[in-house]
Amino acid sequence: MPVFVDKAKIFISSGKGGDGHISFRREKFVANGGPDGGDGGKGGDIIFQVDEGLNTLADFHYGGKYKAENGQDGNKRRCHGKNGSDLIIKVPEGTVIKEAESGKVIADMSRDNKEMVVLKGGKGGNGNMHYATSTMQAPKYAQPGQPALELEVLLELKVIADVGLVGFPNVGKSTFLSKVSNAKPKIANYHFTTLTPMLGVVDLDDARGFVVADIPGLIEGASEGAGLGHEFLRHIERTRMMIHVVDAASTEGRDPLEDIELINNELAGYNADITKKPQVIAANKIDMLPEGEDAEIIQKIRDQYEPLGVKVFAISTLTGKGVNELLYYVSRTLSEIQEKPIVFEQEYFPEEALRTADEAFEVFYDQEEAEYVIEGPKIEKMLGYTNLESEKGFAFFQKFLADNGILDELEKLHIQEGDTVRMYGFKFEYYRNADTQPVFDDSVEDEEEEE
Ligand code: GDP
Ligand code: MG
Repeated sequence: MPVFVDKAKIFISSGKGGDGHISFRREKFVANGGPDGGDGGKGGDIIFQVDEGLNTLADFHYGGKYKAENGQDGNKRRCHGKNGSDLIIKVPEGTVIKEAESGKVIADMSRDNKEMVVLKGGKGGNGNMHYATSTMQAPKYAQPGQPALELEVLLELKVIADVGLVGFPNVGKSTFLSKVSNAKPKIANYHFTTLTPMLGVVDLDDARGFVVADIPGLIEGASEGAGLGHEFLRHIERTRMMIHVVDAASTEGRDPLEDIELINNELAGYNADITKKPQVIAANKIDMLPEGEDAEIIQKIRDQYEPLGVKVFAISTLTGKGVNELLYYVSRTLSEIQEKPIVFEQEYFPEEALRTADEAFEVFYDQEEAEYVIEGPKIEKMLGYTNLESEKGFAFFQKFLADNGILDELEKLHIQEGDTVRMYGFKFEYYRNADTQPVFDDSVEDEEEEE
């Protein structure tokens, strides 16, 4: 018996960006070459791609970690580090990718969405060749690469079909699908026949065709917690209507009316929205009833469900009786339902959610060096992109420090005028101006020697 897998949890990680390099030009007869450290390469992305040949998530059954390649670090002589390769993860159409903890949707790999970058690789860091200014001839600073993004994701396969077949095992769902469509499902007289959802295309003369899914798994006892039921129910979420198949001939001794009610309760218990979908009842196996469609049980089902707007078709998938009427009715009903593809919207944006962790900064006093230190990815980014040499750039950077509460933090640490503040190899003298607005003076010499 094949293992049914339509749900899996995996760990994904993009590649880290390569670090920028710190180096200085060495030329004969040139004492102090300028900075020539190259940039780091970009980290690889995690890309999900639909593979038409797949119809289960079995490849992911054992979980595991899927990691894209890191970008290489920059090198001397302005050498750019190689970009990391992307990792392409192939999934069946209809796979919904969710953030594992919150269950929020990241991507729905269905319809037009055949490929999606789920985690972007880190950007490569700038080499020190970008940081030369007239007062900073020998910058000992290069930008580190952006970290990788890591995430645990839940993959859920939710097939997309117009119509879902529901009903107890052995009522004839698979037989029905094989008779009305191109699908070749296994038909067997034991419970657990169909363990992966089967799709079949129904073609009709003079009417719109549709896609039917044989939704397996409403096993006997599911309602008493025998399990599996809900695992399969998620497939129905995507269908626009249901054909509820029931064994009208009670070939297994069950009561058809009770069966219908049990299945409907099971559906409602899973998701109340499902019960709002149009339903038709296929009272099957009438070839086993001596009176056929005139049997008392058929009338009973009609009496109970047709007043509720649920049409009942007496059919035999074995002889084909009644099947065409049912199919044309389904086609008509579908054309009346608003054509609204059931696609899940993105609710979780990894880049936003995970990169904000980069926004943190830290302000502390380094006793050994007797310097105040400001650190953190956000600071680093600002340093990388600001030209401190220009008056405008410098003012901008100061405003940034004030706006982000960094100056307040320094004050809290009892910084005094004239104290030194260090940020990634840059050093500044701290003083407050007349408006009590602290101001930095970048005249402090970078006393470190170049390599
Ligand atoms: P499923 O579990 O609902 O998919 O049911 P299957 O399609 O596998 O059918 C279960 C059993 O019922 C098989 O032995 C079928 O041959 C039989 N069966 C299905 N439809 C009919 C029918 O209309 N009449 C009769 N007599 N048997 C049927
Ligand atoms: Mg079946």
